[in-house]
Amino acid sequence: MHDNQRQIRNLFKRLSIPAYRKITQYLFLGTILLIGIEFTVFVHQLEKGVVPSIQRPPGIEAFLPISSLISLKYWLTTGIFNRVHPSGLVILLMILLTALLLKRGFCSWVCPFGLLTEYLNRIHEIAFKKKYPLSRWLDYPLRSLKYLLLAFFLWAILIKMDRAALDYFIYSPYNMVADIKMLYFFEHISRFAVGVLVTLLILSILIRNFWCRYLCPYGALLGLLSSLSLFKIYRNQATCTNCQKCTRSCPVDIKVHQTSVVRSDECHACLNCISACPEKETVFLSVSKKIGRIRPWIYAVLIGVIFLGSSIAGRATGHWKNTISTHEYLFHVRHLNLPIYQHNEGRVPGYDKAAWLTMLNSLKASGEERGD
Ligand code: SF4
Ligand code: SF4
Repeated sequence: MHDNQRQIRNLFKRLSIPAYRKITQYLFLGTILLIGIEFTVFVHQLEKGVVPSIQRPPGIEAFLPISSLISLKYWLTTGIFNRVHPSGLVILLMILLTALLLKRGFCSWVCPFGLLTEYLNRIHEIAFKKKYPLSRWLDYPLRSLKYLLLAFFLWAILIKMDRAALDYFIYSPYNMVADIKMLYFFEHISRFAVGVLVTLLILSILIRNFWCRYLCPYGALLGLLSSLSLFKIYRNQATCTNCQKCTRSCPVDIKVHQTSVVRSDECHACLNCISACPEKETVFLSVSKKIGRIRPWIYAVLIGVIFLGSSIAGRATGHWKNTISTHEYLFHVRHLNLPIYQHNEGRVPGYDKAAWLTMLNSLKASGEERGD
C-alpha cells in the first residue's frame, strides 16, 4: 500500500463519529447553499426577461414537501410520475427510505435545520450552564403537536384529495412556480414572518430541540417510519458498566443506559451514544443484537450513497429535471402577479387545465423552434 493511501486510511480511522457527522452535515449544507444560489441567479435572470445563462437546479424541489407528498399520492394512485416537480418526489422517496433503513438519520446527518438546532442547543448550554430538559408533563403534550400537524397534512392530502384534485393541483399555475414563490417569500419576507422566525429562534434557545421535537411534521413522519427501521441502536447489558455516559451524550434525552434497544421515535441516529460509550462494542448500530453490526463510518457512507444514488437513478431514468422550458418560465415570471398564480386558504384558483397546458405547449414549441 502506498504511503498516501495509508495516511488516508489512518485519517479515516482516527476520525470520531461526531467528526464524520459534522463533515456529512457540512457537505449537505454546502450543496444546499449552492442550489439556493444557483436558483436565485436563475430566477433573477428570468426577471430581466433574458434566457438564463445557468440551468435551474432540480434539487430546489427538496423545499417543496407538500407538493412532493401530493406527487407521491398521485404516483401511487395513477402510476404517473409527474414531470412538474419530479426531483421533489425522488428526494421525498429517498428521505423516507433513509428512515426505513437508517432511522431518523436524515435529521441529524442531512437536514440543515438539524445542524442549526445543534448550534442553538450549544447556546442554550452556554447560557444556562447545563442542559435543561422540559418537564415530562409539558414535554409529552408538546411532542404531540408535530403529530397533529402531520395528521392534518396527511388528512388534507392522502384522504381529502381525490384523483381529480391531485391532477388539478399538480398542473396548476401555482404548483409550477411554487419554488419561485418560496424564493420570493424569503426575499420579500413580511414583518409577521420575521416575527415568527425570531420567536422560533428564541424558543429554540430556551427549549432545546424546540422545532425538531415539537413542531416539525417531517420529523414526525420520519419518527413514525423509523420505528420500522432495519438498523437500530443496541446496548449490550453484559458489558455495560452503567456509567451513563451514553445517556448524558444523547441530545434528545433518551435513557440509553436503561434500554437494550433504542426504539424511541425521537432518536435521530446521531450515534453520540456509541461514540460516548467507553466500553468496546457495548453500544452499537445493528440489524439485530447478534448480526448485522455496522461501523459508524459505514452509516455515513450509506446516507451519502442513498442520496447520491437516488439522484443519479433519477437522472438516468428521466425523473430528475422537470419539463418546464425556459420560455414557459419566462412567461410565468412575467405574469406572476395574476390571480391564477396565487394560493388562497389551501386552494388553487380555478383554471382551465386543457387550455392552460395547450398554451404552455405552444410556448415550449416556439422556444424550441428558435433553438433556445
Ligand atoms: S439514542 Fe443515541 S443515536 Fe439516538 S439520539 Fe440519542 S445519542 Fe443519538
Ligand atoms: S456509556 Fe456504555 S457502559 Fe456507560 S452506561 Fe452507556 S452503554 Fe453502559
